[in-house]
Amino acid sequence: MTSAAAELGELLRSRGLRVTAQRLAVLRAVSAAPHSTADEIVEVVRRDLGTVSRQAVYDALAALTEHGLLRRIQTPGSPGRYEDRVGDNHHHLICRTCGRTVDVDCAVGDTPCLNAADDSGFEIDEAEVIYWGRCPECAADPARASRA
Ligand SMILES: [Zn+2]
Ligand SMILES: [Zn+2]
Ligand SMILES: [Zn+2]
Repeated sequence: MTSAAAELGELLRSRGLRVTAQRLAVLRAVSAAPHSTADEIVEVVRRDLGTVSRQAVYDALAALTEHGLLRRIQTPGSPGRYEDRVGDNHHHLICRTCGRTVDVDCAVGDTPCLNAADDSGFEIDEAEVIYWGRCPECAADPARASRA
């Protein structure tokens, strides 16, 4: 086992999760390509481990998300995307044309989006902010824009 794999195994155990080849492969896949969809992750895990059922990968994603090792970004009209950058309340820029997804930090040293004007008594710990628009490549290419 490489030290990176040992570290991932340690991470799983620290959250009370059993270490399985599928979970390790899913963590590696998401870390290598953040904001991947479940289906994209299935492809990568299969290249890594050989035959793995789609359901096994979905189950691993669900367990890892539930235990705070992965974050799922749900965008309207597209499948959920997964990333391993968790717990920092960062936000996303998404291109309407090509779907490119980019991390963007919340306001530095402050989390203004967590201070709702009226929090109705909730203890708020996360704000899902998505900035929609067009990436520079799509904005510069009228042919791409017409596909949207
Ligand atoms: Zn784009
Ligand atoms: Zn992100
Ligand atoms: Zn924010």
